[in-house]
Amino acid sequence: MITREFGWTNVQVPVIGQGTWMIEGNPEAERNAIEALQAGIELGMTHIDTAEMYGGGRAEQLVGDAIRGRRESVFLVSKVLPSNASYRGTLHACQQSLRRLDTNYLDLYLLHWRSHYPLGETMRAMEELADAGEIRFIGVSNFDTPAVQEAQQSLRRHRLASNQVLYHLGDRGIERRLLEYCRREEIAVVAYSPFGHGAFPAPDCKGGRVLGEAGARHNRTPRQVALNFLARHPHVFLIPKSSRAGHTRENSGGAGWELTPEDLAAIDRAFPAPTRDVPLGMI
Ligand code: NAP
Repeated sequence: MITREFGWTNVQVPVIGQGTWMIEGNPEAERNAIEALQAGIELGMTHIDTAEMYGGGRAEQLVGDAIRGRRESVFLVSKVLPSNASYRGTLHACQQSLRRLDTNYLDLYLLHWRSHYPLGETMRAMEELADAGEIRFIGVSNFDTPAVQEAQQSLRRHRLASNQVLYHLGDRGIERRLLEYCRREEIAVVAYSPFGHGAFPAPDCKGGRVLGEAGARHNRTPRQVALNFLARHPHVFLIPKSSRAGHTRENSGGAGWELTPEDLAAIDRAFPAPTRDVPLGMI
């Protein structure tokens, strides 16, 4: 898996990583999910995204199982729930996540979405966690440009590393302003739900045919084409979720090759970006 610099951090992170929302389930489903995560790690998809919210902590436990013995090779990300994001709540939530993940540090810790607690309070706790070495980098999620600016201004000793936002072929709203702002500020943009969270274009619809035709020209699948299109910006990272090793292997083929300008134009026409500003999409 090819890597790129994660914003200003000097850390190389794979272009395509792995999501973990809804990986919990019955024992067989969970075994498959762990196997898929481990297959992804073998393929270099070492950016693993989880959250205290997912499965009420169960996803973090499964990630902990999947990365046991290989923690150092993983770029591990978790998130604090807005309802826990008071100063004390953030410190406590992080300890709980570390325990479930069976590790003593996170590579990146995010505020999952905007909280009713003052941002400065959450960021003060984040900075303390960073000072203590319990998290390496601080980030946010579901923040539009003005909120990102506010988060940057709330930080005193550390710099905002990342913003995780919705980005898929059916929702290209971040291309209006947010993407460019983050590029200028060297903030890594992590695209969540890159397949639209289960709403991937069917092969027989117009957009699905465009993806299929581009894929046929490069010997790639429509999903690999979609991932490649989204990763065409040099500061974007993707975290598709898959609970089967076969899917994960397919997804790993989304990077490391290039769509032609004609392919890009055809995909752009089939899945147009909005022509005016729209509220940041959120799932
Ligand atoms: P997604 O990655 O867009 O799509 C996941 C769906 O695609 C699953 O049903 C999965 O099925 C299927 N899939 C994956 N690879 C496939 C393949 N090669 N062939 C066929 N089907 C495939 O959706 P997502 O889980 O919403 O988003 C990804 C990650 O982003 C999440 O898991 C989470 O870590 C993060 N996220 C963050 C936020 C936030 O607020 N920050 C919000 C949403 C998501 P199988 O499971 O059967 O493989």
